[in-house]
Amino acid sequence: MSIAEKKINPLQPLNPTEEKLLSMVDDHSQELIDLLQQLVKIDSVNISEDVYAERSEIFQFTEKYLRKEGFKTELVKVHFPEGKPGQYYLNLIASIESKTPGKSLQFNGHLDTVAYNPDNWDKDTQPLSAVIKDGRMYGRGAGDMKSGIAAQIMAMKLLKDSKEGFNGRLQLWCTPDEETHGAYGSAYMVKHHPEIVKTDATIISEARSQLPLQTPVITIGEKGPHWLKFTFYGVAGHGSIPKQKSNALNKAARFMANSRRSFKIPRRRLPVNTFTLIQSFLKRYGLPDLVKLLTRKSINPNPLEKDKRNMGMAFETTYSFDRIRAGQKVNIVPDLCELDADFRVLPGLNTQELFNAIADYCTRLGYKVDLPEGYQNKQKLSGKFVNEPVDIRVSVITIGEGFLIDKDTQFGQVLALAFQAVYKTEPVYTFASGFSDGGNMLSGGMTDVFNIGPEGYNHHNANEYVMIESVISAAKLYLLTAYRYLNN
Ligand SMILES: [Zn+2]
Repeated sequence: MSIAEKKINPLQPLNPTEEKLLSMVDDHSQELIDLLQQLVKIDSVNISEDVYAERSEIFQFTEKYLRKEGFKTELVKVHFPEGKPGQYYLNLIASIESKTPGKSLQFNGHLDTVAYNPDNWDKDTQPLSAVIKDGRMYGRGAGDMKSGIAAQIMAMKLLKDSKEGFNGRLQLWCTPDEETHGAYGSAYMVKHHPEIVKTDATIISEARSQLPLQTPVITIGEKGPHWLKFTFYGVAGHGSIPKQKSNALNKAARFMANSRRSFKIPRRRLPVNTFTLIQSFLKRYGLPDLVKLLTRKSINPNPLEKDKRNMGMAFETTYSFDRIRAGQKVNIVPDLCELDADFRVLPGLNTQELFNAIADYCTRLGYKVDLPEGYQNKQKLSGKFVNEPVDIRVSVITIGEGFLIDKDTQFGQVLALAFQAVYKTEPVYTFASGFSDGGNMLSGGMTDVFNIGPEGYNHHNANEYVMIESVISAAKLYLLTAYRYLNN
């Protein structure tokens, strides 16, 4: 980035021991890069939740690496329900414990990656190449999120090797299936092995940044994915006699087209919002540079792109209509249309409130709606639209709750001060629109689950890469945070 961030003097400068720890990271940067390359070269693709994909190799490799470095390790097998006897996923927990009791801190990351098609990647930056070019490492998982794990491993190793004392326990938990929502990883472990994975504080090392700015941020919350299917019912007929109002596809089209104006989802005021985000970026860049950053053009603009980048979207409940199916033949009026919508719901807005908004919107359109079992239907309660048949039936594809943690806990403050010391800039707090294993951890009763990782690009896309310098900085942040927190 050509625009420099304003540097600050950290509130808690480094003492000589901390200086020494951070310089150890520099001394071991080649080892860190080598480790990341090895991780990227091992295919650990996660195809889908219902298709078993062998991912033991990366867990065996990582476990062996950590064991050789002197950590206590444990691999927890979680059997794939539809699978043959040898089909299971592993969770890896590596830890080091002090003789003096104290706090427990956990580093966390997922070792699975999304699928890739090598044909879409450039010849010299293939998915399993881990090739290094211009200060970047390319490969599937380079950003999302083997770099975060490599940095955390290095931080753990250096804390141990430094022989600087600490209290309590530091552990690393690697999950196998974050990309498909963690049924065999985070969700399973918090339910069946809380004694292993529940710690006082957790740092997930997922590479994240706040669009359109690419710069380190601390993620303290996530929206809850609500993936819903809307089935529209209509009346079939001959295409030569159009049915404008009862054609199921037309109903769906009307539902989508009017939503921007009349679909009102309640807003939520959160302690982190567009205002606080802009405020902290102003501190980091100053007004002229921030404006430059926000208005810079993308390098290869797509002429079909009509949407502007929108920072405020992070703090709104959003929805996107992403799939539609209807019709059998060009001359038959469809009586059924299925529309899949991806809602991302802010914490503080529960599923019932979202369904109330959907029911109100349908009432405005004059459609009878049926909501999933277990939820109240405002239309039915109001006495309107009691009887079948309904125009629209809503069903759940998946629902996850959003969350927001308190950024000012004792651990949150340690992390913020370490951030200042390493990056020489004020921390910026934000929300993630995507989900991580953090949601499952919070649902399982864990608190203090923060997320900060290196700077990665093209996640889930071709030519994924991570900025190597940012992996080294992340390792410093993890090491300093762990050292200070476990010496409190
Ligand atoms: Zn990820």
